[in-house]
Amino acid sequence: MRYPDLHMIIDGEKISAGHRTTHRVVNPATGETLGDLPLADAADLDRALDTAQRGFKLWRESTAQERAAVLQGAARLMMERQEALARVATMEEGKTLAEARIEVLMNVGLFNFYAGEAQRIYGRQLVRSGGMRSTVMYEPVGPVAAFSPWNFPLGNPGRKLGAPIAAGCSVILKSAEETPASALGVLQCLLDAGLPKEVAQAVFGVPDQVSRHLLASPIIRKLSFTGSTVVGKHLAKLAADDMKRTTMELGGHGPVLVFDDADVDTVLATVVGQKYRNAGQVCVSPTRFIVQESVFEKFRDGFIERASQIRVGNGLDEGTQMGPMANPRRPDAMERLIGDAVARGARLGTGGERIGNQGFFYAPSVVSEVPLDAEIMNEEPFGPVAIINPFGRVEDMIAEANRLPYGLAAYAWTQNAPLQRRLMREVETGMLGINTSMIGGADAPFGGVKWSGHGHEDGPEGLHACLVAKAVHEG
Ligand code: NAD
Repeated sequence: MRYPDLHMIIDGEKISAGHRTTHRVVNPATGETLGDLPLADAADLDRALDTAQRGFKLWRESTAQERAAVLQGAARLMMERQEALARVATMEEGKTLAEARIEVLMNVGLFNFYAGEAQRIYGRQLVRSGGMRSTVMYEPVGPVAAFSPWNFPLGNPGRKLGAPIAAGCSVILKSAEETPASALGVLQCLLDAGLPKEVAQAVFGVPDQVSRHLLASPIIRKLSFTGSTVVGKHLAKLAADDMKRTTMELGGHGPVLVFDDADVDTVLATVVGQKYRNAGQVCVSPTRFIVQESVFEKFRDGFIERASQIRVGNGLDEGTQMGPMANPRRPDAMERLIGDAVARGARLGTGGERIGNQGFFYAPSVVSEVPLDAEIMNEEPFGPVAIINPFGRVEDMIAEANRLPYGLAAYAWTQNAPLQRRLMREVETGMLGINTSMIGGADAPFGGVKWSGHGHEDGPEGLHACLVAKAVHEG
């Protein structure tokens, strides 16, 4: 399949490079150039802002049924185009085709869910004494500036577009310059399903220039960002200057508590695959395995054995279980973090090296008995490495889970019901999986606490994040 031509979509017009500077998009499995992406200049961004303002005036007047019809139509088109969308995502990001196909299904589920939720944006009426009454209305917040990263090239743009469109907002999407064709593919499904061209647009550019330009404009009323905590804090400060609403999905450092009553083989059968999904470049990836001493050795050795058998290759090839990392920054980070851990006395169980001399491959890796001051214990690795450490007491395990300023996803494996309830209360996290790695779903809120961000995507919460309440009191 040929990789598509790259463009921006502003006011419905496909904008190709012309006089603009471009960004080279690379296949991470081969290092080959896929295409050249036009980057927006200030005039492009001003045009997108003007269009978003018109788009909001238009779309806020749409009926819930009209919004639902567009979202359902886009979901149908994504299903029809599943294979083409998935192939493009794999070419740009490296993940296996099977994972890319699942991303399409996630978007289909989310758009269908929000088609329903759009029709359930209820207000309420309050009866007061003396014939007075008050009305609580929910209105769309306004034009949204949305920034999505490269690790879920289809799913992240789907999340950035679905809820605002269901709520009646317009959106300017800047997805990652590394994976533009996937984002364009998702937006095109919405436009082909009848979304007015002013309502959703796609721009690309130098990230800091685009975000500063859009967030400086009073037209934008909400910032939605998924990415690293350091960039999230920077953008939240820019948004604060104009009191824009924010939804921030930031990094994590997923603790996995494995207690002594857990069946080690059952846990391994789930968590090893989960760890190396998308080469570990997942914000809810399980990262710090906090394992009770009596099962520690069996767990560590079983993990190493399974990790060393993973078939690494081009995501387009049948039988590949893990693809390359998405960009050259990630294997560099793996080398630094694993090298530092080993230098401080950690045990390298498997991996710890690049694979081949083309693309950005890094071996599935396991480090254990890692000291707490190692960089990898404190910085999100965002790569194919599991950290496995032994602990004795339950309170120490919970303390380790809560030690970092992150709190996105946490996991626990135990059949002990009172302990499960204690974990539900005490683990500082936005999402907790107990005896499961499945923590998402179109109908459930996805988001974190502490430095992992605030606000939610998905679920009714994700829709409400795009609405503002207005209370009207009548005498
Ligand atoms: P990065 O922090 O430079 O970029 C992360 C994302 O933010 C990218 O999509 C990038 O285009 C965007 N970005 C960067 N600066 C921006 C700005 N000033 N304005 C708007 N957008 C901006 O890091 P990276 O090297 O691309 O990724 C590495 C780290 O990012 C990882 O270690 C991980 O912590 C984090 N990350 C998190 C997620 C997530 O799902 N939460 C996804 C991707 C990356």
